[in-house]
Amino acid sequence: MTQGPTLESYAARTTEVGGLGIVRALPARGRRMVGPWCFLDRYGPLNFTSEKAMDVAPHPHMGLQTVSWLLDGEIVHNDSLGCEALVQPGQLNLMTAGKGIAHSEETPKGNSGRLNGVQLWVALPEEHQHTDPLFDHYALLPEVELPAGKVTIIAGDMLGQHSPARIFSGIIGAEISIRGDDKIAIPLSRDFEHAFFVLDGDVAFCAEPLQQAMLHYIGNGHDEAELRANEDSRVLLIGGEAFERPVLMWWNFVGRTHDELAQGREDWEQHRRFGEVNAYRGPRTTAPEMLSMFLSS
Ligand code: MN
Repeated sequence: MTQGPTLESYAARTTEVGGLGIVRALPARGRRMVGPWCFLDRYGPLNFTSEKAMDVAPHPHMGLQTVSWLLDGEIVHNDSLGCEALVQPGQLNLMTAGKGIAHSEETPKGNSGRLNGVQLWVALPEEHQHTDPLFDHYALLPEVELPAGKVTIIAGDMLGQHSPARIFSGIIGAEISIRGDDKIAIPLSRDFEHAFFVLDGDVAFCAEPLQQAMLHYIGNGHDEAELRANEDSRVLLIGGEAFERPVLMWWNFVGRTHDELAQGREDWEQHRRFGEVNAYRGPRTTAPEMLSMFLSS
């Protein structure tokens, strides 16, 4: 090898969702998607006492899947299909919005007083974007113990293990734990583009430190990635087949045309299509004005 892989690093930005401060790594300026992954929010770690740390009132989604993955604490999901699901570390809440669903996400009563996790969105390919909405909870995901750490396969296949998560296009999502002063080699699919996001710790990829609160994109064409940790660390790997056509994103929607996103907004405001989250106590979210849109590339 004459030259190491090129690392493109994109700064995450801080924002707020339902009163909770978050770091948003996708979409980033200059990098809208990694494979089908189109959204990455990081929240915590935080400790709280009496207040609900997370209280995201009912809001709609379409054209995507939401992936809730915790490092600590717990969240309860309720949706307009009537599904209620508590998610805890090591478990996956996967909501396939398809043609439309509404959900809320809250810190449950009787919580640990801690919250630390990520929420990601996966854009559905065009042929599945209008699929019926579904909710899946996976209590157990495949884990592979390695001499230097552990890999949990959240979505897709890796190290001979297959995640049961319901997916609609070529994808990989994995949490990689690496012991301090050790290194781990992760096999990658050459056809997939990939990116790393450091959850905690101090990690380098091919001797390049991976700064926190940044998305580190390595593109495609790699068979393997070597990650070296200077202390106990956790890294999120996301990747997949790049979309041939860009998707449009606006608010909580993924679509292909401005009109279908505008129709989604109208349907939510008119109480059509998405249904109501009857389990949530309190008002639902009002759609923002439609001023601008992200064009993914
Ligand atoms: Mn949501």
